[in-house]
Amino acid sequence: MKGFTSRILHSDLRQPIEHGALHKPVHTSVAFGYEQAREIAEVFQGKRKGYSYARQINPTVVALEEKITLMEEGVATACFATGMAAIHAVMFALLRQGDHLVSSQFLFGNTNSLFNTLTNMGIEVSFVDATDAANVAAALRPETRIVFVETIANPCTQVSDLEGIGALCAERGLLYIVDNTMTSPWLFRPVTVGAGLVVNSLTKFIAGHGDVLGGAVTDTGRYDWSRFPNIHDVYRKGDPSGWGLLQIRKKGLRDTGGTLSGMAAHQIAIGAETLALRQDRSAGNALTLARFFDGHPAIERVFYPGLPSHPEHRRASELFRNSGSLMSIELRPDLDCFEVLDALEIPIVSSNLGDNRTLAIPVAQTIYFEMGPARRASMGISDGMIRLSIGIEDIDDLLADFRHALPA
Ligand SMILES: *Cc1c(COP(=O)(O)O)cnc(C)c1O
Repeated sequence: MKGFTSRILHSDLRQPIEHGALHKPVHTSVAFGYEQAREIAEVFQGKRKGYSYARQINPTVVALEEKITLMEEGVATACFATGMAAIHAVMFALLRQGDHLVSSQFLFGNTNSLFNTLTNMGIEVSFVDATDAANVAAALRPETRIVFVETIANPCTQVSDLEGIGALCAERGLLYIVDNTMTSPWLFRPVTVGAGLVVNSLTKFIAGHGDVLGGAVTDTGRYDWSRFPNIHDVYRKGDPSGWGLLQIRKKGLRDTGGTLSGMAAHQIAIGAETLALRQDRSAGNALTLARFFDGHPAIERVFYPGLPSHPEHRRASELFRNSGSLMSIELRPDLDCFEVLDALEIPIVSSNLGDNRTLAIPVAQTIYFEMGPARRASMGISDGMIRLSIGIEDIDDLLADFRHALPA
């Protein structure tokens, strides 16, 4: 089986399941018993596969990890309670005082906040315009350990120079981490541009129903961990391909406890079954709406990579299956974004994205409020900006609603 959806649907059944059940059961045990005492010792020493304690490993979560690995065409995945827990685990496990991180300046707000906290802990961070690999190259130092970018940034939809940065990182032996949340592995697989690790917030498109949180880190197998200076001696054993994720699991999951529960893993696995169907539908809706907004007299600007006027339109068309479901619109300066939002009936005013329902939020006053006006201005976020995460509703309903809410 090669197809994306066929493989997700049948991945649990690659292992026998009790009673011929079609889904991996939800496991709730905190601990796992062993008949032979020697076996638990071998599990703890990494000599035998097995379950120790549910903060570190749970069979339902392992089944989801295998699905994410298949989706990303990687070699292994570790899941976490949230996307932020996953990003935190990677940085906490892999960086040391004096190290340098180069990150895109166009970042999910909480990732931006997390990276600023790293600077309090002796890790230096350079934020650069990652739409051009030359800006990343100019920021590199001898202490640079990681380059981190998103695929389509939030809220202005900049598309990183994913290929150029991949080539640069390969040439310099740097660990390249791509946050694939906005595209999901259905639209794009970062392994194809040389990413060593892929981060996904499972909360968004992969789960898709806005009813569960989760995060994942996938090792693509493209990075040579023997070149990474910060791997502890205890994890430098055997095949180097497993070193990085092992250290992330031990230092970033076991020791910090951002664990995904079995129940949440089950809900995410159910959502993942329909990822391709949902994302094609919501992206189709998004493109139709973006064309409607483009040139509408109430709207100054539309940020959507599917429009030919978008600065990275060609790159997005070449790299991604479609342009996704996230867009922002900037209202004419005399219009009040709160009034427009209140006039809409279908979009729910909400901070999430990647839900089946269309969600809308005023950006400057909410998710990007804490960073202040100067950083907002540097990111191109105006007070009249509304971010939209387009859902799978019937397009005629969405069009009618926006036609009614936007002053002609
Ligand atoms: C939402 C999001 C995250 C964080 O995920 P949570 O599951 O909400 O913790 C990280 N990166 C991007 C791009 C996101 O959109």
